[in-house]
Amino acid sequence: MMTESQTQVKERAREVVSRLKLEYPDSACSLTYSTSHELLVATILSAQCTDARVNQTTPGLFEKYKTPHEFAYADLAALSQDIHSCGYHNQKARSIIGASLRIVEDYQGNIPDSLTELVSLPGVGRKTANCVLGECFGKPAMVIDTHMVRIMNLLGFTTSRKPDQIERELMKIFDRPDWVVLTHMIIDHGRAVCIARRPQCGNCVLADICPSAAL
Ligand code: SF4
Repeated sequence: MMTESQTQVKERAREVVSRLKLEYPDSACSLTYSTSHELLVATILSAQCTDARVNQTTPGLFEKYKTPHEFAYADLAALSQDIHSCGYHNQKARSIIGASLRIVEDYQGNIPDSLTELVSLPGVGRKTANCVLGECFGKPAMVIDTHMVRIMNLLGFTTSRKPDQIERELMKIFDRPDWVVLTHMIIDHGRAVCIARRPQCGNCVLADICPSAAL
């Protein structure tokens, strides 16, 4: 597979997507939210934290702060305490308040729907922005999280560890309609089979097309 042409790489990418769709037909975002602003907040909280932990925190959080306006004018110390269990709570609280303030003051409380505008919000990087674009606005967007970095390297679709570079490379390989679901399926695969430090290659549907398979 080291000498694959770009056409062969794309064919293998399509095969990966096809097999993962069969394996994980219900793959979806695992963060719980009901509005685009709630997803923005949940995604900020998910940095260096598990989605399960975030989902334990957000029901009470969204009950206390119901609108972007309430987050924007929240007390920093109180919000930090409310999200303490997600880690990096002071930094995340500043990001949530800063982003919410811009959304309220510059966008009338509505989440902007472009990558450029989203990444201009305090504390919002490409990962958060792409998550919101894909989930809430149905735009082709690829979220490069730790599972994507690790498994895309194992699958030989990149040799980079830099999320921005990986995103650019994968966009040339995978078909646009698959970008959003690809991340969700890879996360599911990383949790169920291609587990960090102990990949279950013997049980992997990608084993015969994965250059890292240890069979
Ligand atoms: S074959 Fe092994 S290394 Fe490759 S994707 Fe499957 S579990 Fe991961």
